[in-house]
Amino acid sequence: MSQYLLALDQGTTSSRAIVFDRMGTPVAVAQEAFRQIYPRPGWVEHDADEIWQTQRRMAVEAVQSAGLKPEQIAAIGITNQRETVVLWDAETGKAVHPAIVWQCRRTADMCRQLEEAGHKSMIRQRTGLILDAYFSGTKIRWMLDQNPDWRRRAERGELKAGTIGSWLIYNLTGGKVHVTDVSNASRTLLCNIETLDWDPVLLDTLGVPLAMLPTIVPSSGVVGMTAPDLFGGRPIPITGIAGDQQAALFGQGCFQPGQAKNTYGTGCFLLANIGDKPVLTDGGLLTTVAWQIGKTVTYALEGSVFIGGAVIQWLRDEMGLIQQASDSELVAAGVADTGGVYVVPAFVGLGAPYWDMEARGMITGLTRGSNRKHLVRAALESIAYQSRDVLDAMTQGLGKDLAVLRVDGGASQNNLLMQFQADILGLPVERPKTHETTALGAAYLAGLGVGMWQSPADIAGQWQLDRRYEPAMGRERAEALYTGWQAAVERCKTP
Ligand code: ADP
Repeated sequence: MSQYLLALDQGTTSSRAIVFDRMGTPVAVAQEAFRQIYPRPGWVEHDADEIWQTQRRMAVEAVQSAGLKPEQIAAIGITNQRETVVLWDAETGKAVHPAIVWQCRRTADMCRQLEEAGHKSMIRQRTGLILDAYFSGTKIRWMLDQNPDWRRRAERGELKAGTIGSWLIYNLTGGKVHVTDVSNASRTLLCNIETLDWDPVLLDTLGVPLAMLPTIVPSSGVVGMTAPDLFGGRPIPITGIAGDQQAALFGQGCFQPGQAKNTYGTGCFLLANIGDKPVLTDGGLLTTVAWQIGKTVTYALEGSVFIGGAVIQWLRDEMGLIQQASDSELVAAGVADTGGVYVVPAFVGLGAPYWDMEARGMITGLTRGSNRKHLVRAALESIAYQSRDVLDAMTQGLGKDLAVLRVDGGASQNNLLMQFQADILGLPVERPKTHETTALGAAYLAGLGVGMWQSPADIAGQWQLDRRYEPAMGRERAEALYTGWQAAVERCKTP
């Protein structure tokens, strides 16, 4: 009997594949990194074929190293880096241009022009997003502008565009299926967040032909079968798709409105389940589709911190204050507090809720007694303060408090950071046993899609606590510290 699920976790720096059993326990992992291409300052590309080839190899390898036969895999779930886009030729199945990665800033001018033409608030209303080069719509437009023949061919549907999930499914099915799911589509600037379909006004404004776009499908349900040659003659159904952050929210079991997760990686990604209405809020937060299962659509509010765990890399690589990231915990624990020192890691500007792209980092409150330990601690604490900035914007926008914050990502292993996070938020922080929440979310969506479970409620019980951090600091002290942080941020802002 088919008892296992295969999750393909196509990330920004590596392609991973993980086999899960029906208890949500990972039984095999395969991972391969691929090239990052920087053709000019601010531009980032991936080789679309390399993404497919590494992902294909990892899928096969994971099944093999789990010691399983393909027929033991009930379904495949896919989760992917979200706003990266591929343009390919429908006839040859080959990409005609390198994939333009979410980090790529090449369409910043195009976004400025769209803003000057007065489209900003219309785009915000229709998509829940902010007009920014981060999202895929302007990237597709940019590629079409490179070659008049491409535009003509795109209008005839001879060229296809898709996010990385679409590209993988197209290849996995041997070119038979061109789809994307609602969570990925909601990151393109082309999908209407109310109708959940490509919006004619947006397509027209951005100059992207409908004929080249994938069909938008729910995040769970059968979308196609893998080509027989991939897994030894055995087609496997593909039944789950979601963008990586949405998949992590799902993998964290945040199925109810008010449940939120924060991923502490290079940056931090905070998503809160807001239920079945796409509420727009202020404070620089995005409203996005979390997932769609059957007819039920769940939305999320999203806020990100640009420099999260990266501030710890900075301590290690640029400042030489620690040898490895995990040392930060021990060093920081060597002092009871930072002695009034704040590190504001605005290395690439300030994100939500400040949105000041010209701001730069700063260390404030130094005294004659400030030492390495204070600095390391202040850097670590800055991750928690920035997360509170985003979370406060969320609770203000929603008009209600969150119940709990579930955490994952590399820096969530830092106990001092997690305790400080709970203290500063005045909210319990929960870290699950599994580290693979993103892949697990994709596996869950796939399992639901193939009928392994009937509803998310059947899975909710699988979430297992590793450690819960209760707020222990007095509220007065926490607020005083946070006020100090806000004052330090004020000093960083561009006048
Ligand atoms: P990504 O997926 O963005 O590459 P990961 O989830 O792998 O990130 O987390 C890596 C990040 O977490 C790095 O920026 C690293 O500095 C930070 N990190 C890892 N372990 C710790 C730790 N114990 N304490 C603080 N930061 C950590």
